[in-house]
Amino acid sequence: MKITGVTQHHVEHAMDEPFHPTWIPGYPQATHEAELFEIETDAGITGLAASPSFAGGLDYEDQLSYFLLGEDPHNVEGILRKLEGFNLVGPRPWHVEHALWDIIGKDAGKPVYELLGAESREIPVYASTGQVIDADERVDYVQERVSEGYEAVKLRITEPEHTEIVRAVRDAFPELTLMVDANKGWAVRVMDEERQWSFAEALTVARELEEIGGIGWLEEPLPRHDFEGYARLREATDVPIAGGEFNNGAWQLREHLTHDSLDVLQPDAALATGIKRATEIAAMARQHGVTFVPHTWTNGLGFVANLHVMTAAGSPWCEFSIDPPWTPAVRDCFLTETIDHEDGIITAPEGPGLGVELDRNQITDE
Ligand SMILES: [Mg+2]
Repeated sequence: MKITGVTQHHVEHAMDEPFHPTWIPGYPQATHEAELFEIETDAGITGLAASPSFAGGLDYEDQLSYFLLGEDPHNVEGILRKLEGFNLVGPRPWHVEHALWDIIGKDAGKPVYELLGAESREIPVYASTGQVIDADERVDYVQERVSEGYEAVKLRITEPEHTEIVRAVRDAFPELTLMVDANKGWAVRVMDEERQWSFAEALTVARELEEIGGIGWLEEPLPRHDFEGYARLREATDVPIAGGEFNNGAWQLREHLTHDSLDVLQPDAALATGIKRATEIAAMARQHGVTFVPHTWTNGLGFVANLHVMTAAGSPWCEFSIDPPWTPAVRDCFLTETIDHEDGIITAPEGPGLGVELDRNQITDE
């Protein structure tokens, strides 16, 4: 089988009202954007992949074609090595590898998790927020999630004093597992500069979370390459420390493991690794006694790729992003069906490949 074509679409979906992501400080996000790729083959099978996008997008269809045309999509390792070169000269290409697995699975009539040597598995979801909002409003939000079956919620904080939001939610829900994301690992600085925390501030937050109790993990309190800082923090607190969602390539995740930086490793298969490298990193994490719970906040295709990975990797939680106006329907806006959980439990689609289909009505550039 040979790859015969690469087609890129920029997709853009308007949200009901602006969303204020902590990772783009000061930016009112009005649309969900993605760069969507269809990788065509001479067998008539097309694979899908998508990258998050922003501000009208970036066109790299021609450049990717140069790396992919004529290759056998089954040669995932060989193509990944070519994509390592693309990573030097262009945008991060890890999402593109998802299309190869989609093709291989469609060709074999098997879901990706089965290609990865796994069986279907039920995974508890945690509700993942993306904004800092007032404690009262957040307590109402959590009430809704609890009534939908979630047993864990991840709250955002950007300043140490935002632990008061965590405390308010804890007071209202004494039994709920709470994750806390500081989002200091990376940021898209187009509006405001985000304020990094000093090590002392990160430690103060961790100690306060220890006291609040029932904390699943504290996520990204420090920059994503501060492997030593993470290791020191992990040593100094009992709260599990998580990170790695946006490190670039497998070696940076390996650095987190060799430095004993983290309790929970979170590389996103769409942003950091691709599917094959994600499973390799997950195996390495297991050998280090580190839990593997990938970040999933991109789009429906990125989400489902990570869902197959966590099915194979045995992840104890699945990040399910929901913080209106951001909803699962917005996340999956260019798929025919929204991938949902049932009473707090999710399973990967059982259809061939990634197991999802494009809603062509959402593709307005053809
Ligand atoms: Mg995060």
